[in-house]
Amino acid sequence: MNVIWHHAKVSKRDRWLKNSHRSALIWITGLSASGKSTIAVELERRLFEYHINTFILDGDNVRHGLNKDLGFSEKDRKENMRRVGEMARLLVDAGILTIAAFISPYASDRAAIRNLFHKEEFIEVYLKCDLTVCEARDPKGLYKRARNGEIPDFTGISAPYEEPAKPELLLQTDSFPVNESVDRIFSYLTQKGIILNKR
Ligand code: ADP
Repeated sequence: MNVIWHHAKVSKRDRWLKNSHRSALIWITGLSASGKSTIAVELERRLFEYHINTFILDGDNVRHGLNKDLGFSEKDRKENMRRVGEMARLLVDAGILTIAAFISPYASDRAAIRNLFHKEEFIEVYLKCDLTVCEARDPKGLYKRARNGEIPDFTGISAPYEEPAKPELLLQTDSFPVNESVDRIFSYLTQKGIILNKR
């Protein structure tokens, strides 16, 4: 291959020192309507107010641009995940505390993304929410359409969701209010020294 890797003169550690916080990937996984986007947005706001460099990669949003050529077959979902993993790595290398909100139903895809990162840089957050609650919330009307057979391969209905075996955090979003979920993630980040506890 006639492509070489260019080495930078600014390291990730240099960026961490400049920012006064570390970077990592907070990977939020769970069924549709389990609260991934809602929690990601609130967490980003909270981190931003705390002067943290942060950015959300949202499953729906990347499918409008970078991944708009991909569908929902197993093969396309895998490619979707691979591209997102590479993009997340760039953001983490750039010193950004990155939040990713993706259903990411296959354990093997999540494991492949985990493998792109150092152990302490990948934080899997599983939003555990009963399917009946997700279906009752149905903020985008997707469950209704999936039940009517209008959406093939819909996670939880006609496609599997493989629960994380050992997530760094498990948040029961059918019983925790949004703020409590955000608090739990924030506490985890301070506990692990990713962000400083300034209080
Ligand atoms: P996802 O990104 O996982 O598909 P969304 O965040 O888009 O989920 O939708 C979840 C919906 O559930 C939102 O309308 C949100 O306001 C609502 N909701 C109700 N209670 C909670 C809770 N405790 N945690 C998260 N979301 C909740």
